[in-house]
Amino acid sequence: MDNQKLLYEISELNTLFREGTDIQGLLNKTVEMVASHTNSDVCSIYLYNNETNELVLSATRGLNPEAVGNVKLKLGQGLTGLALKEMRPVCEVDAANNPNYKYFPGILEEQYDCFLAVPIARGISKIGVLVLQRHKGENFSESDITVLEAAASQLVDIIENARFLMSIREPAGEREKNIDILPEEIKFVHGKIASEGFAYGPSAVFDKKKNLSSMMHRQFDEKYSLDDFHDAINKTSDQLEKLQEKVGQKLSDAASLIFTAHLMILQDKYFIGGIDELIKNGVNPPAAILKIAKNYIDSFATSENAYIREKIQDIEDLAIRLINNLLSESEDVIKVKGRIIIVKELFPSDLLILSSEGAAGIVLVGGTVTSHLSILASSLRIPMVVCNTYELLNLPDEIPVLIDAEIGNLYVDPTDEILERFESQQKARQTLNQQKLLMKPETITRDGTKVHLFANINLLADLKVACELRCEGVGLYRSEFPFMIRRNFPTEMEQYIVYSRLVQMVQGKPITLRTLDIGGDKTLSYYADTTEQNPAMGLRSIRFSLQNKPVFAEQIRAMLRAGANADLRIMFPMVSSIDEFRSAKEIVLECIDELRRKGIQHNSKPMLGIMVELPCIAELMDDFAKEAEFFSIGTNDFVQFMLGVDRTNENISSSYVPHHPSVLRALKKVVQSAIKNNREISVCGNMAHEEKYIPFLLGIGIRNLSMDPRYLPRIQQSISNIDITEAQETAETMLAQSSITGVSQILG
Ligand code: PEP
Ligand code: MG
Repeated sequence: MDNQKLLYEISELNTLFREGTDIQGLLNKTVEMVASHTNSDVCSIYLYNNETNELVLSATRGLNPEAVGNVKLKLGQGLTGLALKEMRPVCEVDAANNPNYKYFPGILEEQYDCFLAVPIARGISKIGVLVLQRHKGENFSESDITVLEAAASQLVDIIENARFLMSIREPAGEREKNIDILPEEIKFVHGKIASEGFAYGPSAVFDKKKNLSSMMHRQFDEKYSLDDFHDAINKTSDQLEKLQEKVGQKLSDAASLIFTAHLMILQDKYFIGGIDELIKNGVNPPAAILKIAKNYIDSFATSENAYIREKIQDIEDLAIRLINNLLSESEDVIKVKGRIIIVKELFPSDLLILSSEGAAGIVLVGGTVTSHLSILASSLRIPMVVCNTYELLNLPDEIPVLIDAEIGNLYVDPTDEILERFESQQKARQTLNQQKLLMKPETITRDGTKVHLFANINLLADLKVACELRCEGVGLYRSEFPFMIRRNFPTEMEQYIVYSRLVQMVQGKPITLRTLDIGGDKTLSYYADTTEQNPAMGLRSIRFSLQNKPVFAEQIRAMLRAGANADLRIMFPMVSSIDEFRSAKEIVLECIDELRRKGIQHNSKPMLGIMVELPCIAELMDDFAKEAEFFSIGTNDFVQFMLGVDRTNENISSSYVPHHPSVLRALKKVVQSAIKNNREISVCGNMAHEEKYIPFLLGIGIRNLSMDPRYLPRIQQSISNIDITEAQETAETMLAQSSITGVSQILG
């Protein structure tokens, strides 16, 4: 092979690429060049689509040109797929006889026996495969492999860019075309539960970008007038106001938030004026809307500010709504009500919109579900499953989908048998209403020991359920939710209103308000430090509050004012040292002093406590107990930080083991210290609602548990069957184990 010359010419290709040469032309030129320098009869490039896990023949010299775009291989399929899957060269002298060989009729490769494929990759990211083929007897040598590998690595940049550009130029809607038979792999998908529950309904792939770009490719035959456009504006604002009202009724803490930006844009003289102007100059209104929307999107897209970038979504959403109303097609495009929504990307504000529009369930494809997104979905009672089956994004609308988010299963176009099985399972499960009737005011073990059950509250809607279930108070209010569902920091007044509603609803029972817990995977769209290398260990939770004193003080004042006559407990998250606790306490005392001076009604003696979420607290518990008035163990983070396992990463979920011997022993140490020092201690992480852990927790002395309200009946029932002496023995046996396996055997 003419090694040096080939590499030189490839580097020249990059220049052509930057000069804007047509992508397909460039790929064709590449295969020509590689084939000729390597004396091969065939050279082909396959590009890998990581959404569909498919390799697509994208350019060839030597095979039937009609095969380009039509020959597709799954990762691992055929010799080409194998090369990429195993990230190694595959070299064969008699390709057709290899068991992994995949025959495609009509591509005319039968005549070539010698085969060489090398993966094109950047690090572990798969980009494509470069394939050479020759006639029988013209075997590829070791040095051919080395040269082709060098060529493949030179081609990474250019191919990566080509792949990207081809994917965005692919006209929207193209991908759905060929699906009349559902591929087997999407008929049943096992994903991760993000929010429990069941849902059955027609599918709807929700992709604003795609909807918008499909509109951009569309011809609008009918001519509309300026009056039609203004009618569409009125119709859109009416619809948005109605939706807003619905959200307000359902979620008072989110009231009047979601569509504020939309409504403002609808009144913006530049946005509407710009469209008016174009229409007056003869542009058809749908095209005018798209043009102005695109201008806005393009200028927002380059903004450094995440808050501005988020506005893109509002514009996209609004443009689609306006055009639908103009074309009177509102029923045709965004059908949400009763649908199983399949999405690739989801923001908390999307969830609120989907919930207000009556989505039955959500399938999040490929996205990571932040802990808060799944908590929000649970609070909104929308079943949600996360999976990596990208093919689902190509599912045509209106295909029946069943979500069983109790176990994370998804059935596409389920058979009658599956549906019947599901219905009978449904009947067997008690509904929340039935459970409410079973709930007793007190929770007592078999031997008569009292256990106190509290609720974890994220949205006010949770508290309604919690009160109906007669919880004994709020053990954890995640105060970041009003922050998360807004597009900017809520004011002191807004917070005061939400906290006051909470206080009113708990009717004198203890209420534990946790101060802002953001950072890590709990991000605010309007405040995210994207420069952090490791956000999980970055400026988060109490660290954020202490570094942003005005934000913290506003929150504390709102809590103190709302809790004027309440049994108020203020809890700091992620505290790592006595010093942090003291600094936070000092700010609370300053706020109390300020409110007193100003004569504003407030709670002057709230209990101040900490979340035990970082393992370092275990060693300092006796010291903390002298200063903090109560403790609540956040096992979700405690386990994450003790074991160094990301709680949201599905790939390592098997390493996230709450019953790891070290976790159990540390929990015992924490609990014993609190008891010895006469301090209240509770568990408010997910371990508190997992029945299998209850004997252990009671066994080490826990008497207060706080959980998502819907688990209350189940846990109360479970506790009534436990004998404390037996639970202590079980806990001791578990604590004596040194391995996870040992503990697992006891848990059964
Ligand atoms: C925890 O870490 O266990 C906890 C309850 O807090 P959050 O889930 O909000 O991080
Ligand atoms: Mg936590």
